[in-house]
Amino acid sequence: MEITFLGSVGEVGKSAILIKSDKTRILLDYGIKPNDEPEFPAHIAPKDLDAVVITHAHLDHSGAAPLLYMDEGPKLYSTSMSLKTCEILLEDFLRLSGYYVPYEYLEVEYMFGRAKSVYYREPIRIKDVEIELLDAGHIPGSAQVVINADKRLLFTGDINPIKTRLLKGADISQTDVDAVIIESTYAKEAHENRLELEKQFVEECYRVVEDGGIVLVPAFSVGRSQEMLCILTVQNFKHMLSTDGMAIKMLDLYLKEGKEFIANYDLLEKVRKRVNIVSGKKERKRVLEHPGVIVCPAGMLKGGPAAYYVQHIANDKSSAIFLVSYQIPGTPGALLVSEKKLMINGKEVPVKARVEHFLFSSHAGQKELQALLKSFNPGTKVFTVHGDGDSCEVLADWARKECSLDAVAPSLRMTYKL
Ligand SMILES: [Zn+2]
Ligand SMILES: [Zn+2]
Repeated sequence: MEITFLGSVGEVGKSAILIKSDKTRILLDYGIKPNDEPEFPAHIAPKDLDAVVITHAHLDHSGAAPLLYMDEGPKLYSTSMSLKTCEILLEDFLRLSGYYVPYEYLEVEYMFGRAKSVYYREPIRIKDVEIELLDAGHIPGSAQVVINADKRLLFTGDINPIKTRLLKGADISQTDVDAVIIESTYAKEAHENRLELEKQFVEECYRVVEDGGIVLVPAFSVGRSQEMLCILTVQNFKHMLSTDGMAIKMLDLYLKEGKEFIANYDLLEKVRKRVNIVSGKKERKRVLEHPGVIVCPAGMLKGGPAAYYVQHIANDKSSAIFLVSYQIPGTPGALLVSEKKLMINGKEVPVKARVEHFLFSSHAGQKELQALLKSFNPGTKVFTVHGDGDSCEVLADWARKECSLDAVAPSLRMTYKL
């Protein structure tokens, strides 16, 4: 088996890995780096591929895939939830960044025409290779990929072994492999205990709302918004709880088709019954008239209903903005966290509302990555990808020293033979 890295080496973004057996060529992910002007991974000709497997719908794993479908294109495998989510995110991506994207909706359509949905643990044969998807615990529908050919390989994709209110946590049963490709996002950073973080978050929501304020929780529409609604619902949060925009669309998708992908479906149903669904300008204004919590995208305040709400509460000392994920430098969310300022009409304006950052994550933290590496047999080949700065090197170093794994942070276009 041969592995060639076409992206996501030494950075988060452009996930793209080519696997070659004697007779078969499979591409794992084909993602972009979602900057203002998106970056694309190294080129590969679709005619050189037998299949594409998308681990999950995030654009850094799927955003370049339509490029492979200018013509008929290879067969595409993913979970049913990833396919549906991916379609929504690609449409949104084309709407917002279409000018910079070298494909159109037609290619997206072609791509889904070639797609086949796969269940977790359902073996799929592609010529002399068998693939299997395992729950990755990252977002609903996310998967790791096991490749069985002359050698056995595991690609974690983006993985979270920790159970959350929304997801069951990754299936980490397949550790008897010859090689593993592992993400390194938080190789250098430990996460706070999630239950502790939940408790702090809910307590602070109470504090603000009971003093008559509004808490705006900007959150990604895919997964994080629903998780925050689940947290507040499971803790019996008594006050008004609202959601808006694409978070509603995703909540309804998870309820309609997500039973096998969600940890606690009953809780999600309870969320849908108790949450105030906001649509349209009039309702948005009305929501701002009462104390309560509003959970909605965008997670870094780059557009979406959150960008509307934030302008209305920014000057209110009794209100608060609680960011609940990592904020990429250069985004409005990052400016808010670091300087307590908002960009309004091209000017940086100080914010009077309280600003807090709760670091909920959908990736394994340092402790979980290390535990995962410890579960492989000594001598297993390890490739560390999907990490900014020196995170991939740091994780590979740790794996070599502490677990006697044959670990390396690969470089772009390098081919490794197993
Ligand atoms: Zn992801
Ligand atoms: Zn990713």
